[in-house]
Amino acid sequence: MHPYQYIPATNITEAVSLLARYGPRARVMAGGTDLLVQLRGERYELDAVVDAKAIPELMALTLAKDGALSIGAAVPCYQVYEDEAIVAAFPGIIDAASLIGGIQVQSRASLGGNLCNATPSADGICPLIVHSGVVTLTGVGGTRTMLVEEFTTGPGRNALAHGEMLVKIDLPKPAAHFGAAYQRFIPRNEMDIAVAGVASAVTLDASGQKIESARIALASVGPTPIFAKKASDFLAGQPATEETYAKAGEVASTEATPISDMRGTIEQRHHLVGVLTRRTLAQAVQRARGNS
Ligand SMILES: Cc1cc2nc3c(=O)[nH]c(=O)nc-3n(C[C@H](O)[C@H](O)[C@H](O)COP(=O)(O)OP(=O)(O)OC[C@H]3O[C@@H](n4cnc5c(N)ncnc54)[C@H](O)[C@@H]3O)c2cc1C
Repeated sequence: MHPYQYIPATNITEAVSLLARYGPRARVMAGGTDLLVQLRGERYELDAVVDAKAIPELMALTLAKDGALSIGAAVPCYQVYEDEAIVAAFPGIIDAASLIGGIQVQSRASLGGNLCNATPSADGICPLIVHSGVVTLTGVGGTRTMLVEEFTTGPGRNALAHGEMLVKIDLPKPAAHFGAAYQRFIPRNEMDIAVAGVASAVTLDASGQKIESARIALASVGPTPIFAKKASDFLAGQPATEETYAKAGEVASTEATPISDMRGTIEQRHHLVGVLTRRTLAQAVQRARGNS
C-alpha cells in the first residue's frame, strides 16, 4: 500500500486547506470503514488521510428545540440510534443507522461517510432523502447547501468540488402524523450489500386514513440512489390502503433503472422495488398513526 500521512484535523479551515493543497491525493476520513478498506484494496492512492473525528462541527449531533435534527458528517451511527428522542422522531434514519454493517462497524461508520462514498446500494442515503435531508458542504471558497437527492452523481461519485468537504446533514422537523421506514433485500440476514432497498415516508391527514404527502427513494436499482418522484407524487391525496401501496410500488418500479449483476437480475430488482415499496409504505403509515 502506498504510504500516506495521517492528519487529524481539529477544525474545518485546517481540513479544507489540506484538501485544497493535496487535491485528489487527499481524502477525508470519518469512520474509515469504507476508506481504509478501499485503500488496502489499492482502489486509489493517497498522500494524506484527513481524519475528521476531532472536528467539533462534524461530530455534533443536535436535536433542536424546534424538532429539526442536525447530524455532523462524522457522527457514528450508534450515537444516532442510542438517542431516544431521535429514535422517536426520525424512524427511517434509525432503520438505516442500525443495520449498516454490525455493531462494531456502527461504532465508527457515519451517515456522512455513507453518503460521500456514494454507492448506489448505500443503506443510509435513501432514508436521508425521504426525511428531506439537506447537506452543507464547505471548501476554501465558502459554504453551500443542496438536497441529499442531488448530492450523489454516479457510482462512487458525488457533488463535492475540489477542496470541499461535507460538514453536516440537516433534517427538518417531521410533521405531525409523519412516519418513515427503510427496508432492503439481502440474501443473508446481515453483513451484505442490498440487492434492492426502498425508503418511504408519509404524512397522513388528522384522521390517519389519507396520505397528504409522501417521499419514496430507491437503493441499488440505478447508478445513484433514486428519488422516486412519480411514485411520491402519485401518493398525495390517496387513501392509506394496501391497494394504494401496491399501485405506488408499480409506479416506483418504473423509476428504477437496475442492472443485472452477481447479486440480482434486472427483473428481480424491479420486482423487489414493488414489494419493498408496499412494505415500507405500510410500515411508515403504521408509524405515522402512532405519531400525532
Ligand atoms: C464489514 C462492513 C459491513 C458494511 N455493511 C454496510 C451495510 O450494511 N450498508 C452500507 O450502506 N454500508 C456498509 N458498509 C460500508 C460502510 O461501513 C458505510 O458506507 C459507512 O457508512 C461509511 O462511513 P464511514 O464514516 O466509515 O466513511 P469513511 O470510510 O470514513 O468514508 C467513506 C468515503 O467518504 C469520504 N468522506 C467521509 N467523510 C467525508 C466528509 N465529511 N467530507 C468529504 N468526504 C468524506 C471518504 O473520503 C471516503 O471516500 C460496510 C462496511 C464494512 C467494512
